[in-house]
Amino acid sequence: MTTKMMMMISKKPNFGKAEQAAFELLKINNVQELPVKVKKLAKNFSNLKIKTYSWFAKTHDMTLEEVCEFANSDEGCCWYIKSKNKYIILYNDKVENVGRIRWTIAHELGHFMLKHNEMSDKSVYARNSLTEEEYEVFEKEANCFARNLLAPPQIVYVLRPQSPHVVSDLFDISLEAATNVFTFLNNGLQRGISYSRNHTILRIFESFIFKYKHAKTCNNCSYYFVGKDTHYCPICGDQSFTKGEVDNMIYSKIELNEHSRAIQCPHCTNEHIVGDYCQVCGKYLVNKCSGYSIEQLHGQMQEPWHNLSNSCGEELSGDARFCHKCGSTSTFLESGTLTQWEEEKFPEREGQRHLQAVGSNNFVNISDDDLPF
Ligand SMILES: [Zn+2]
Ligand SMILES: [Zn+2]
Ligand SMILES: [Zn+2]
Ligand SMILES: [Zn+2]
Repeated sequence: MTTKMMMMISKKPNFGKAEQAAFELLKINNVQELPVKVKKLAKNFSNLKIKTYSWFAKTHDMTLEEVCEFANSDEGCCWYIKSKNKYIILYNDKVENVGRIRWTIAHELGHFMLKHNEMSDKSVYARNSLTEEEYEVFEKEANCFARNLLAPPQIVYVLRPQSPHVVSDLFDISLEAATNVFTFLNNGLQRGISYSRNHTILRIFESFIFKYKHAKTCNNCSYYFVGKDTHYCPICGDQSFTKGEVDNMIYSKIELNEHSRAIQCPHCTNEHIVGDYCQVCGKYLVNKCSGYSIEQLHGQMQEPWHNLSNSCGEELSGDARFCHKCGSTSTFLESGTLTQWEEEKFPEREGQRHLQAVGSNNFVNISDDDLPF
């Protein structure tokens, strides 16, 4: 095969190559989270810059319309300066839909990664500089690249989003593109298509996928957490959650080691911890399932409460007031090491309760007007 023949442009798009190039770009940039930050993907290539139409218009004293005309597109273009082996991707930053801009940049990155300019020997890669056939092949490859870069099908497959709106939010793409991705998945599923569960891309995005599947916010106390076998909220013991991070109320916590044991005694601040009890003050230092229910909360009233024969044995996090597995109280809640969650979520209410208690014993009935500030 001569070099000339090798440089000939294939009449069929090579989707496998486009998919591979997209993964390659994700890998080079160590991308592990979605949505992919497309504009940052150029940083590892010293010969590639991503710039806006506005920037180009300003530096070349042109109107935006003139840039669109020059680029032969209202959306974006990939420009190759052969003598310097440099690339510039230009995108129209005046397009209102952010998802659409992201898709355009991803698409142009496809032309760059797949070396379409070099193959066609064209500086500004544009419709009018190629035969219709060449143009179609390159466009299909660039679109396939964009899809695999922004919304990799293997990830869409494992996350099984419920609607195009979810797809749009998840990958930050336009609703139009999201609808295509969604329909593509469902049609594939109906035809019995399945994706490998061992695909490299799934390993790259492993923790993101886990978080997406198991992140929840408690409807009762607004605590946000990620956990697989969590049937009860670790803060308030409730069982009703909303998927994802809706809210994120932070509750006080004790610093623990990997065995759920306090690094420093929360009671007397002793730092030389030897066993499960503080050797200075005797406080129990492990936060685990107590086996008691909240109704029988002993607090420090009935020491010693630490008969843990009903405990499910689960070791808990430093802020857990409840066992996420069985809903029992935590040893830290029982011992008073952690406060009850309401005191932190509703400090005003707790303050009022305190004030009322004081008021009933004394004569005080404070209104705002009485306060000197
Ligand atoms: Zn294109
Ligand atoms: Zn809760
Ligand atoms: Zn102590
Ligand atoms: Zn338990």
